Amino acid sequence: MNERAIERHSVNCYKCDTLFDERNSERTTPDGGDICPDCAVQGINIAVTAQEFHTIIAALRFYQESGMGDPGNRSDDIHALACNGDDVVSLDAVGIDNLCERINTGGSLQ
Ligand SMILES: [Zn+2]
Repeated sequence: MNERAIERHSVNCYKCDTLFDERNSERTTPDGGDICPDCAVQGINIAVTAQEFHTIIAALRFYQESGMGDPGNRSDDIHALACNGDDVVSLDAVGIDNLCERINTGGSLQ
């Protein structure tokens, strides 16, 4: 890869501030931040029943409908879960929407 290509696509990881090629970004945070492959949580694959699948979607939609895309509308315990302590930026309403869409369509991380 030539340096020019790297420069054009260089972004800083929102978490560790390391400069990396955005084309290797594992995902984009709701506010548009990129996360490097080293900081990204790897995908989790689990098999669920139809009942479990729809409960996950319902729970996410309940969370969203309750306004919990906004941290101010969460209890401390739910906020801690959404941020894994202070480890990640929690999803906002748009991020939750995108996640529901991906779960429904089997889409991959962007
Ligand atoms: Zn990083």
